[in-house]
Amino acid sequence: PTHLVWLRHDLRVTDNRALNAACQHSEAKVLAVFIATPIQWKTHHMAPRQAAFLLAHLKAVQARLAELNIPLHYHECDDFQDAVKWLIDFCDHHKVDKLFYNHQYEINESRRDHALEKKLSHQVICQGFHDAVLLPPEKVLKENGQMYQVFTPFRRAFLKQLFLTNLSCIPVPKKRDGPQVSISLTELSFDYPLLDFDTELFPIGEAAAQKQLTRFCDAKVSAYSHARDMLAIKGTSGLSPYLTLGILSPRQCLGCLREAFPEGIEDHKGAFDWLNELIWRDFYRHLLIAYPRLSKGHPFIGWTTFVQWHHSDSLLEKWQQGQTGYPIVDAAMRQLNTTGWMHNRLRMITASFLVKDLLIDWRLGERYFMSQLIDGDLAANNGGWQWAASTGTDAAPYFRIFNPTTQGERFDPKGEFIRHWLPELNPVPESEIHQPWSWAEKNHKQLDYPTPIVDHQQARQATLSAFATAKNLS
Ligand code: FAD
Repeated sequence: PTHLVWLRHDLRVTDNRALNAACQHSEAKVLAVFIATPIQWKTHHMAPRQAAFLLAHLKAVQARLAELNIPLHYHECDDFQDAVKWLIDFCDHHKVDKLFYNHQYEINESRRDHALEKKLSHQVICQGFHDAVLLPPEKVLKENGQMYQVFTPFRRAFLKQLFLTNLSCIPVPKKRDGPQVSISLTELSFDYPLLDFDTELFPIGEAAAQKQLTRFCDAKVSAYSHARDMLAIKGTSGLSPYLTLGILSPRQCLGCLREAFPEGIEDHKGAFDWLNELIWRDFYRHLLIAYPRLSKGHPFIGWTTFVQWHHSDSLLEKWQQGQTGYPIVDAAMRQLNTTGWMHNRLRMITASFLVKDLLIDWRLGERYFMSQLIDGDLAANNGGWQWAASTGTDAAPYFRIFNPTTQGERFDPKGEFIRHWLPELNPVPESEIHQPWSWAEKNHKQLDYPTPIVDHQQARQATLSAFATAKNLS
């Protein structure tokens, strides 16, 4: 028999459910395939940095698979439709009996998989696995069979299931018998813009990701509850790009956490808070399945479609470039533009600023983030944006509006993070770093830095009234 594993956002050999299933039959010939779809990626606004990170990991997984005597075939076509056509021919040509893949939950991806299964149904047995989540979506539902809309009861049900389910990690499959596989089957390259990423921040390979995970669980997770919000220190795991592309599985994260806290995670605040974030990650994925409209740019809360957004290319651009005059917002946007990553607290602050201070449609921010993030992920990004914009399920209420100045004072009290990204604020003393405009005015200084593009208090009032009007219209 010939078994094919179709790799997508699961670029690893350890704890990969589809790969493991493909390798179960000791006599089977096992092949792997990856299909690049640059035109589809463009419509999904995939960041060039993420494309470069993906390519580096595709090469890494190809080499790891070759060590297992599994050849990774590579093909590039335009979009998902073409990918399906090509894959059917591939199965035919290689006489594939069984096809294994790990589920992706976004609407275009799941439609692609349904179309493929339907077309292959007479010749190839297809099997999909819930590999990118801790618990399969159908395992955490309300008694009436519906998906939870609020996180806290979801988490309660989730934790109950989590402790009942065996989530041990699957080891790397054994090396297959047969002739040595050469890794240069096809030249791996994408016809897609690529942008270098910092390999010190994001080292390449699943071994490096596992090392980073272990180091975090052993040394940092205890302090996570406090350190996670302090912008001048590296208090979070930095593992999101690996989780997004499946270089690391959420089960590996849970396993590592359990090893570090054998007496139980729930009794350790740091460990539990970190697990909580992994549960948010699952929550947003489960929501994508229950509410396909989330993949189509629709808000979860219907009446928010009536909000009259402000259309201003120039304000949008100032936000994108980190030129708003609010230091914490600008430092964050420059971190994003330079590294492809942004701290969670800052994602909340910058998203809130775009929506609630500039009254710009959250979808424009969501799209810009996707186009820059090395960890860009529809479920988490859409979830985060809809949370910040108060359009989502269990989102911040619309009248809760972050004050960008006090957020900066709380989470970067000495302005260290700000100074790192905004060297033009060097002359400003620590006590005034969050309001450089007032220091410049008082001291008759000229800074190479803009004054605030909006007045926060006025903007706040305008937003409250725009949301209240929309709510009344519904
Ligand atoms: P840690 O704090 O170490 O958390 C561990 C893991 O849990 C993360 O790697 C991530 O996989 C998951 N996680 C943490 N927080 C969240 C959350 N709020 N929602 C869902 N999963 C979470 N995360 C992405 O992976 N991709 C995105 O495109 C993305 N866009 C976002 C946009 C906005 C507006 C907001 C508010 C949040 C977004 N997040 C996104 C969630 C979160 O900001 C990042 O996952 C986190 O900053 C990554 O850093 P870390 O790996 O050090 O996280």
